[in-house]
Amino acid sequence: MNRMRGQGVSGGVAIGPVYFHMRRKPEDMPRTGQDVSAETARWTAARDDAAQALNALAESARNQAGEEAALLFETHRLLTEDEDFGEAVRGLIESESCSAEYAVYAAGERFAALFDAMEDEYMRARSADVRDVARRIMDILTGGERERIDPPGPVILAAEDLAPSETVRLEKAKTLGLILKNGSAGSHTAILARAMGIPAVCGLGEALSEEHAGHTACMDGDEGTVMIDPDESTLKSFRERAGHEDERMRALEKMRGMPDESRDGRRMSVHCSIASPDDIASVLANDGRGVGLYRSEMLFLSTGHLPGEEEQFAAYRAAVSGMKGKRVVIRTLDIGADKQLSYLPMKKEENPAMGMRAVRICLRQPDLFLTQLRALYRASAFGRLSILFPMITSVREVVECRALCRRAMEELEREGIPFDRAAETGVMIETPASVLIAKELAQEADFFSVGTNDLTQYLLACDRQAGDMDGVYDPHHPSVLRAVRMAADAAHEAGVRVGICGELAGDMEMIPLFLDMGIDEVSVPPQKVLEVRGRIRSI
Ligand code: PEP
Ligand code: MG
Repeated sequence: MNRMRGQGVSGGVAIGPVYFHMRRKPEDMPRTGQDVSAETARWTAARDDAAQALNALAESARNQAGEEAALLFETHRLLTEDEDFGEAVRGLIESESCSAEYAVYAAGERFAALFDAMEDEYMRARSADVRDVARRIMDILTGGERERIDPPGPVILAAEDLAPSETVRLEKAKTLGLILKNGSAGSHTAILARAMGIPAVCGLGEALSEEHAGHTACMDGDEGTVMIDPDESTLKSFRERAGHEDERMRALEKMRGMPDESRDGRRMSVHCSIASPDDIASVLANDGRGVGLYRSEMLFLSTGHLPGEEEQFAAYRAAVSGMKGKRVVIRTLDIGADKQLSYLPMKKEENPAMGMRAVRICLRQPDLFLTQLRALYRASAFGRLSILFPMITSVREVVECRALCRRAMEELEREGIPFDRAAETGVMIETPASVLIAKELAQEADFFSVGTNDLTQYLLACDRQAGDMDGVYDPHHPSVLRAVRMAADAAHEAGVRVGICGELAGDMEMIPLFLDMGIDEVSVPPQKVLEVRGRIRSI
């Protein structure tokens, strides 16, 4: 038996065969026996797509950052059209019958090596540009992150790390548990695992290896342990623990239908965080009071294209009508940082978590934002919908978001499309700036929702994605708890409701403190509703 330890990031135990998901490396791409004309056509189409994307990037860089920034993308576009490069790719496909992606990789490496060998420092640095362009075309050819993980049956899924776009498309019935070499508790992959009720351990490092594929494993997502090839007594104890878990869940059934109220009469309603309208069934099954956070970007991450108004409307309407009049808070697009859309390329940033994210993107691309707001308002006619703006750092941003909301409503009114004019708009408190100006923000919001995941990251200057920060990323840090209280006090002074939608909302130790702060609502994974309610009712 091989025992390893990582960080438990989503509770529960699982037993099953290990399935190791490996991203295709260039060396593994088909190198012979491909259809030459089909691969040549794939190359041409991918090259044209890359050129078009780079043109769009140059255009937006020109508008936002000036001519010099645009020049970088222009240069990359010119590289896609370079005759010699194209000839090298075509030559490889024709002479070796290799796949288009392998040809692009090999030609890119060949050209990059030529630059690497040059005397001139400026020319040497161009090798990075060549590799960047080759990578962009290869991503288009392989679908980038869009490859779906499809194990043959129920497995414990092992991987280096998973992107949120991969996690959101996991088939729950086939994913007994998740074990990762890298990753962190604050990452969206861990958040999604918790929301889906999948036990997960991350940060196992090199102890976890591809060689474990096919072996039986037991894992404990609370303790962060994984056993490969468990002996009989370990298997027995894990089976017993799985049984106890079922018993515990049955005991919690008593909480169904009970008020979210402490013994001394304080109320804090328990809502759910979801990633898709498919999760509504789980919210209802677990007796959630409503949806406190629907991360709309997961819709954008789970498709390989930009969802238009109709597609978005269908998803939002399904969530809102599925909740049958209970409140559904839908957060507007929060992309950027770890949540990149392969079809909406963005400029590379040194610090993407502090760069173009969420409303910063939406306010710079009003057409994109307006499409979403129209879809949201249309869905508001089917139940009780609230709109939530992420990553707010200034009053101006909220004013601009609400101006676009008014524009969406005016358009729908002119077109005779029904919507709920009273749909509330709220502000996420997840940056230090938003805490410090909470009083002013409260004048522009119907409600606050505190995002403790990002708030912790920004208050402690600690990347939530980094798995090896040795406890620095600490949502229990006094600065985080004090910030939550400051935001709550500012909200209540202005008569504005305040909820918590970060992962801290479901932390049993924190429930008494949140009640004490007068927090009106917590939003937790559906599987946690009854447990949190039980905790509230015990106080
Ligand atoms: C948060 O930051 O706490 C939050 C709820 O948003 P996300 O985790 O999606 O960034
Ligand atoms: Mg956040």
